[in-house]
Amino acid sequence: MEAFDLFVIGAGSGGVRAARTAAALGARVAIAEQSRVGGTCVIRGCVPKKLLVTASRYRAEASDAVGFGWNLEAKGHDWSALRDGIAEEVGRLEHLYRTGLDNAQVTIFDESASVEGNGRVRLAPGRTVWAANIVVATGAMPSPLGIPGAEHCITSDDVFGLPHLPARVVIVGGGYIALEFAGIFKGLGTDVTLLHRGPTVLRGFDADLQHAVAAAYLEQGIQLRLNTSVRSIEALARGYRVTDQAGNGFDCELVLNATGRLPNSMAAGGALALDQTGAIVVNDRYATSMEGVYAIGDAIGQLNLTPVAIRQGQWLAESLFGASQSCPPDFGVTPTAVFSTPEIASVGMTEHHARATLPDITVYRANFRPMRASLARSRERVLMKLVVDKRSDRVVGLHMLGRDAAEIIQMGAISLQRGITKREFDRTVALHPSVAEEFVTMRNHD
Ligand code: FAD
Repeated sequence: MEAFDLFVIGAGSGGVRAARTAAALGARVAIAEQSRVGGTCVIRGCVPKKLLVTASRYRAEASDAVGFGWNLEAKGHDWSALRDGIAEEVGRLEHLYRTGLDNAQVTIFDESASVEGNGRVRLAPGRTVWAANIVVATGAMPSPLGIPGAEHCITSDDVFGLPHLPARVVIVGGGYIALEFAGIFKGLGTDVTLLHRGPTVLRGFDADLQHAVAAAYLEQGIQLRLNTSVRSIEALARGYRVTDQAGNGFDCELVLNATGRLPNSMAAGGALALDQTGAIVVNDRYATSMEGVYAIGDAIGQLNLTPVAIRQGQWLAESLFGASQSCPPDFGVTPTAVFSTPEIASVGMTEHHARATLPDITVYRANFRPMRASLARSRERVLMKLVVDKRSDRVVGLHMLGRDAAEIIQMGAISLQRGITKREFDRTVALHPSVAEEFVTMRNHD
């Protein structure tokens, strides 16, 4: 039987990093991938999604440009050129990932694998290999809709391969994937209806951002129906009808189920303890209920973000095969973005969370039209918000809606990580004229 020091199941963000790090430390490593090397982020998540977002924003840019003296005639959009361009880029990245594993002398098994017990991994054709350590990094999968007609839906995985752009789409869900694809479709010229069963979109984000993005979407002509549960989907002669709990019908060419993602724990093979959501249960060192078996990334259902999975994979490999005795990574200050249009990004506590956990807070807010909006005659707005712990003066939350929010909040995350105070923000010299300077010149609070 083939034997390895480490066997990784799943060649996505976390798995690839764990495998390459362990191999660089001298371990004999194998990795199994049932689909394409690179995983969700590279093949059907962050990367192709962000390219779609970029594409979808050019329409508004072209119309803004008129106010700056340009006459950019938009002659329509070629979906197949975009789709094929993205597919090519994804293929290039996949090749880079595979080459990186090859160069690190990681053995790649292009098949599915599962944990069998006693250090054994079962490969799809029925073969078994042995490994001293096993890491399950199998990611997550779209959660099923569970209503009559759900089989008519596509998921975000399918958008990247659509034969043509639909004229009208209904998106079910109100999380970040739903909002991002609503912005993408709208920007590319599709009529969008978003049906969400909750009272606000983007659960867990700061309430001001939730309301501002919902208002911006309504203004762009996206039909946003909150408190709306979908009851059924029925196929029509052409397209589909989505019916809500009140009996309202929404006809469309395509239904996108974006109601969330569930941990993919099938590779646990019934051998590992799972929680009620199906996530693999781990301790703070990513050890599962079975000795020698670890799990990281979306499969453990904690913070479903690429940088989190990568960091977990890196740390785990170092702790198993390196000399480093460092503590497991701390994700207390983890910045996150929603690539809706307008974009959202946050780091630290929401106002609601801060009020619930700290004795006294101060909230600084700025809500304004950016400079470019006047000439562009656009209705673009920016919302920026600082949440401060009054007792210590520490900035505990930084939130933004507007152009380049992700870029700005990434830099702000460094200062939050260092425990920056509001006084230190105030002492920082502004960079003028920029939108980000607003964060160091905020004087008005609630
Ligand atoms: P994955 O990257 O999902 O990799 C798991 C791999 O395991 C897959 O390749 C799968 O095929 C393979 N696999 C599963 N079971 C088996 C098996 N039994 N045998 C062999 N192989 C198996 N995160 C961000 O940080 N920023 C973003 O902007 C962002 N956008 C996203 C957009 C979308 C549409 C989606 C769906 C996700 C997005 N994410 C984003 C989340 C991010 O992609 C995930 O958090 C990240 O990929 C998780 O990494 P992972 O290693 O846990 O799993």
